Amino acid sequence: MKIINSIVHMQALAIAPERDGRKIAFVPTMGFLHEGHASLLREGRKRADVLVLSIFVNPIQFGKNEDLDRYPKDMERDCQIAEACGVDIVFIPTAAEMYPSGFQTGVTVREISLPLCGASRPGHFDGVATVVAKLFNIVRPDLALFGTKDYQQLAVIRRMTADLNMPVEIVGMPIVREADGVAMSSRNAYLSPHERQSALCLIQALRRARELFAGGERSIAVLMKEARAVVMQEAAAVIDYIEFRDGATLQELDVADDSTLLALAVKIGQTRLIDNTVLGEVL
Ligand code: AMP
Repeated sequence: MKIINSIVHMQALAIAPERDGRKIAFVPTMGFLHEGHASLLREGRKRADVLVLSIFVNPIQFGKNEDLDRYPKDMERDCQIAEACGVDIVFIPTAAEMYPSGFQTGVTVREISLPLCGASRPGHFDGVATVVAKLFNIVRPDLALFGTKDYQQLAVIRRMTADLNMPVEIVGMPIVREADGVAMSSRNAYLSPHERQSALCLIQALRRARELFAGGERSIAVLMKEARAVVMQEAAAVIDYIEFRDGATLQELDVADDSTLLALAVKIGQTRLIDNTVLGEVL
């Protein structure tokens, strides 16, 4: 497994497979890897000849008062996980090289970036789209794998690659959860044991809405009331948003169907957690 820091070196390594028709699979991450990341890597391993992982805590997707400076980090462990998943190249660029002085280009994916996390974190998806576009130009993957844990991010990236004719197949992968149902996230490391218990309210709210939906309830007003009530029962939880949206367009709805997305963002203490489910799909 090669560990590469320089952009030109990474680009040079990507040229050979492209020339002799070997496929490159790419998994972009911010590191502090867990089983969710590993599931993307294993799938990438199966689907391509060369597997590239990037680890980059992208400063331009963080707001001023967010957790950029304390984002968890463990490069040694990340490299062990990467090796075990069959990664060929770990690309770990520096922020200085990704955003040198004079950098002034951004990618904005308009409507689909605006609701949900885009409303709570203004500019976040511009930062995501810009870094992913840069990474695609550096790594030149045939396919790139993303988790549906970040549902809106995946939608933004699908839109960007389609709109800009990027020759990359985007593969969405299911959410990997802890045994108790909490979605795996690098940010779970911030939670105290008590907060980790409180974090269960996200999956409980998803389950409650799914249960009502499975029982025939289609009114979003009713489903919303029930999902909110579950989270509000948890004293340590502050709702950022709980929303039902069309799973493809992210537009608002009054009536739920199988493709309806329930997405939520909840603060547990200082930690903002997100989770989601599509009502007609398996959890
Ligand atoms: P991050 O390092 O949090 O930026 O995530 C990198 C990639 O891993 C993104 O495509 C995420 O959606 C994906 N990911 C993060 N957590 C999970 C999870 N629990 N299950 C599946 N994919 C995940």
